Amino acid sequence: MSASTNTTSVVTRFAPSPTGFLHIGGARTALFNWLFARHHGGKFLLRIEDTDKARSTTEAIDAILDGMRWLGLDWDGHEYYQSQFWARHAEVAHQLLERGHAYRCWMSQEELAAQREKAQSERRPFRIDSPWRDSGKEGDGAFVIRLKAPREGETVIEDKVQGRVVVQNSELDDFILLRSDGSPTYMLAVVVDDHDMGVTHVIRGDDHLNNAFRQLAIIKGMEWPEPVYAHVPLIHGADGAKLSKRHGALGVDSYRDELGYLPEAVSNYLLRLGWGHGDDEIISREQAIEWFDLDHVGKSPSRFDFKKLENLNGHYIREADDRRLADMVAAQLGPSADLELLVRAMPELKARATTVHQLADGAKFLFAQRPLDVDEAASALLGDEARKLLASAHQALSGVGEWNHDAVEAAIRAVADGAGVKLGKLAQPLRAALIGRTTSPGIFDVLVLLGQGEALARIADQMVEPNE
Ligand code: GLU
Repeated sequence: MSASTNTTSVVTRFAPSPTGFLHIGGARTALFNWLFARHHGGKFLLRIEDTDKARSTTEAIDAILDGMRWLGLDWDGHEYYQSQFWARHAEVAHQLLERGHAYRCWMSQEELAAQREKAQSERRPFRIDSPWRDSGKEGDGAFVIRLKAPREGETVIEDKVQGRVVVQNSELDDFILLRSDGSPTYMLAVVVDDHDMGVTHVIRGDDHLNNAFRQLAIIKGMEWPEPVYAHVPLIHGADGAKLSKRHGALGVDSYRDELGYLPEAVSNYLLRLGWGHGDDEIISREQAIEWFDLDHVGKSPSRFDFKKLENLNGHYIREADDRRLADMVAAQLGPSADLELLVRAMPELKARATTVHQLADGAKFLFAQRPLDVDEAASALLGDEARKLLASAHQALSGVGEWNHDAVEAAIRAVADGAGVKLGKLAQPLRAALIGRTTSPGIFDVLVLLGQGEALARIADQMVEPNE
């Protein structure tokens, strides 16, 4: 890791702990950091905080990297792994010792427990009061290195989102920097790494606001430049409660695989979740980079709204390239799906879908095997009258020379006119026969997409033979 060289340009980072998937809140934090860096022509770094070896997994790391790539959040340079910098973390802990901002503490678990109990019985908040803080003596055996937190005065953070936040230093505790086995705590590691990576702006969830005050104590002890902080309110469920799985607190992979959303929709949705640009709802990547700032990040928690996300997804599906969507649908439908047919069907399919799953579902009729499974609602449309109409349609369509939209439309209209019924009276049983359902793209498009042979065969499966 190289020390920061250019202190004037913006450097942000996303620092996930790889103990689970890239959940939707983390993805938003990553997005905000990415946008802020790109807006300022700065750097966006990725640091995997894998210090908790027992809980960090390679699956989680892969899922995080995969989720970020899917969302188009490219990071500058290689990803950093916090566990690689343990020696450096320890070095800084020892520098703090030398500077008098930290001390070795030999307090036993029993002594700590006794202090905690005493505080409880006196109904006051527990703050460790180590006899080693100012003793200048050496103890025996294993020790931890603790921060000698300031006790006088106050610490102020001019947070870009929360505004001015003040904490009395008497509230800070002498937290551990280096454990007795020499491993660094999160509090130390994050500060050292941010400094060494030249991070200028720390944008993260406001569950870390309390940590910021403690981290600042280390930064001040080292006389390092303070980063700009922006603590973004967490995402809540639609009912205002903390986000749970039921509300959408899923890994971003679920948004792709289980829910069938496009990355640009998820990204646009996450952007609007906590940040605004007037009344704009549809915001392209380019606009987001141009407009993103910390001043318009909301101060109150935003509520996750699946309906909005789905609407946005519908919009992006309609905008998306047909071949790209056809590829996604083909991947879902398997080898039986003809990619070129899907590409041709896509303009019709995407007008009726809000998720990739709905697209795939809508496309199934193209590859269905005869005789079709006709669902209950569609069966109800196939009465005797309707089956006779189908026979007339079959005859008319058999005579169509060049199989295209106009030709099939003319043939079908002529049948309806001849029978003295409205077009719908014929279109409904046709749809039932061709698709096995009551909903589908326009009936003429369905006929064209299926091709003359397949369309006639499906109609024949349901019609009453003219001579019956
Ligand atoms: N690794 C921490 C987390 O995943 C984030 C640390 C930070 O952003 O400062 O919650």
